[in-house]
Amino acid sequence: MEKVIHGVKIECVQGDITKQEGFDAIVNAANAQLMPGGGVAGAIHRAAGPGLAEECRPLAPIKPGQAVITGGHNLPNRYVIHCLGPVYGVDQPSDKLLADCYRNALKLAEQHGITSIAFPAISTGIFGYPMEEAARVAFEAIFELIPSLKSIKVIRFVLWDRKALEIHERVLGNMF
Ligand code: ADP
Repeated sequence: MEKVIHGVKIECVQGDITKQEGFDAIVNAANAQLMPGGGVAGAIHRAAGPGLAEECRPLAPIKPGQAVITGGHNLPNRYVIHCLGPVYGVDQPSDKLLADCYRNALKLAEQHGITSIAFPAISTGIFGYPMEEAARVAFEAIFELIPSLKSIKVIRFVLWDRKALEIHERVLGNMF
């Protein structure tokens, strides 16, 4: 599904964040050390190759809500924006910290003239954020920033399974 708001397309697809051909940037649901690990971070580092970890090392550690940018190495994308989501209920306030991830990622993307960016559902895996709450926080944070975006034209949510896709489609559909 997709929606266009102030000329920015927001879309939800089911898939793998490492397979987003044609997107300037993908977002990593990173850990504080910006190292491979499991879930999205593991998949991104595997696909990018060891050069990514090397580039990440001097940028770590990062704090919940923070975002940093690197090259895409062997990924089909020019950039990777690494965000540390909150551990649900532990890093507080979790909703603000999760919103910060989306806000800071979009701001970094704008600074680099990025036109298309793909996000995974940050914090909804190992970090335990309930999917529907996380989707609401993510879309609200993005909608607030949309009027100020200049370079970004496409924002894609890449959801790993059918259930996550359905939840995001429902939340997005109910928001406008
Ligand atoms: P976090 O530590 O921020 O919770 P995870 O990587 O554990 O991050 O998971 C975030 C979300 O990404 C989860 O919903 C998970 O199912 C999903 N996910 C896992 N692998 C991929 C992938 N290759 N592409 C897109 N989403 C993925």
